Order: sequence, then structure tokens, then C-alpha cells
Amino acid sequence: MGYVYDDQNIFAKILRGEIPNDTVLETEHSLAFRDINPQAPTHVLVIPKGRYVTFDHFAAEASDAELLDYVRAVGEVCRITAVSPDGGDGYRMIANAGAHGVQEVPHLHVHVLGGRVLGRMLPLR
Ligand code: AMP
Repeated sequence: MGYVYDDQNIFAKILRGEIPNDTVLETEHSLAFRDINPQAPTHVLVIPKGRYVTFDHFAAEASDAELLDYVRAVGEVCRITAVSPDGGDGYRMIANAGAHGVQEVPHLHVHVLGGRVLGRMLPLR
């Protein structure tokens, strides 16, 4: 058991500055950048800077400072991109994990999607 973090995943490379990103927000413990293949007019990924594979990994092992910074960063992205229902039209957050979640990049990321009506939460099958 245990979470195995792959240092060669693409978000680890972004955090090391080895490949570029379109940054929306950077904080002490988190980074938010635009998805390279956007599924909606607003599609931002928010990641912790720490080596966490999934949301449950992060929830179990991150420090209080990391957790607070990350939650606040996600909220700030909603404000920066103007999708917050506080003035905007709303958004969806998605965090895929593992095989059934069809997670492609094994570094925790929350997708923040908005700018259009996003349809049903899940396809029917
Ligand atoms: P997931 O399927 O939840 O793991 O989503 C991974 C996301 O990362 C996809 O939406 C990709 O389009 C996105 N992605 C992959 N490489 C990059 C990159 N270099 N910069 C920004 N987004 C990326």
C-alpha cells in the first residue's frame, strides 16, 4: 500500500520549470495554470507544489499550511477567472484519481471549468 509519486510526471516538470505553463496564480504551496487542452472557455488546473498523487493522498498527508493554501488557491482561481457565482455564472471542479477516475497525470490537480453551461455531471455511461 502507499502512494507512489512519479517525479517524471508532467506537472512535476512544470513545477521544476522544465516546461512552460500559462500561470493564473502562484502561492507559497500551490500553482494554477491553464489546461493545454481546454474543455471549456475557462479550464484551469490547480496543483499543490508538494508531491501528492491524488486528493485523498493530499488530504491524508499534507500539512495544515498546504491544505489551507490549496483550498484558498482554488477559491482565488474562481474569483480571478470570474466564474464564481459571486458575480459570474458558475463553474465545476473535478479531481480525477486513479484508474476508474481516468487520471492521466499522477500529480493532484483540481480542474476548474466554466464559461459555458457544462451539462450533466457525468455521461450516462
Ligand atoms: P486528468 O485526466 O484529470 O489527469 O487531466 C490531466 C489534464 O492535464 C488534461 O486536461 C490535460 O489536457 C492537461 N495537461 C497535460 N499536459 C499539460 C500541460 N503541459 N500544461 C497544461 N495542461 C496539461
